[in-house]
Amino acid sequence: MRELYLKAPAKINLALHVKGLREDGFHELQMIMQSISLADRIKLKKKSGGIIVKTSHTELPTGEENLAYQAAEIFLEKNPEIKQGVEIYIEKNIPIAAGMAGGSTDAAAVMRGLYQLFELEADLNKIRQELEAIGSDVPYCLEGGTVYASGKGQMLEPLPFIGEKYLVVVTPAFKISTPEVYKLYDELKGYQKFNFDSLLTNLKNDEEIDWELDYKNDLKKAAEKICPEITEIKDIFKNTKPDFTMVSGSGPTVFSIYSSRERAEKAAADWPRKNDFVTAVKTIDSY
Ligand code: ATP
Repeated sequence: MRELYLKAPAKINLALHVKGLREDGFHELQMIMQSISLADRIKLKKKSGGIIVKTSHTELPTGEENLAYQAAEIFLEKNPEIKQGVEIYIEKNIPIAAGMAGGSTDAAAVMRGLYQLFELEADLNKIRQELEAIGSDVPYCLEGGTVYASGKGQMLEPLPFIGEKYLVVVTPAFKISTPEVYKLYDELKGYQKFNFDSLLTNLKNDEEIDWELDYKNDLKKAAEKICPEITEIKDIFKNTKPDFTMVSGSGPTVFSIYSSRERAEKAAADWPRKNDFVTAVKTIDSY
């Protein structure tokens, strides 16, 4: 195989609870992660040596700072019998620094793809551990789906797929730095009660999601303070009669889930704020 095309799906959080600050400086989290059909497209091509990253997005770094580059570096380091290199092309469709794990999913897809490209057997448990070095969300992105993530986000328990649900994702033209949101969260000290166990019981045992349970995001307040446009977006969503609306991750992406594809598509088509990134997509199972 000389080249390979892959999809790198984005994620949303159906719930995000910050349990506290760990001794290593990271936050202890409980999250429900969900993959969606919005995806970057990645092309991998063998070359004689080294790693090259090219991308469709002018703002993305193409050197070692690119998380996809880091994944390729780890792959070549762990598999020294591979004497060749790789060219990585990223068609960037997921908004950057938006709370949808865009960089993490590229890194995980490149790792997955390189094992296929070089026809090596992949031990997914080992690969997940290796990916932790790149970022806490990267191990989840290796297979995606509906997952309970804890610790820094790297401890994963797969859950039954919530089924195909239609949603609209809106990202204002405003990049949010994840560390900045956590810093403000710590300053605000707005700890909320969070019954996470009831969410897990709901997701494991019931046919339908009960949105009245604690499907919420502890980072919402801090993200809204940094980016007040989030509040405007939520207000617009209210008029489109969704089943559920929430900020994803550290924002500024806000998503709404609808009872039908038609409702979601209409909400996206009628979206009034012209500078937002808006797309109607669906939830997807693990890949
Ligand atoms: P998360 O939801 O995991 O917090 P995010 O979606 O908020 O992530 P990313 O889109 O992953 O954020 O981007 C965060 C930073 O990572 C940006 O500053 C960006 O320059 C950098 N980065 C490095 N590689 C990539 C990549 N392949 N795609 C997107 N961003 C990347």
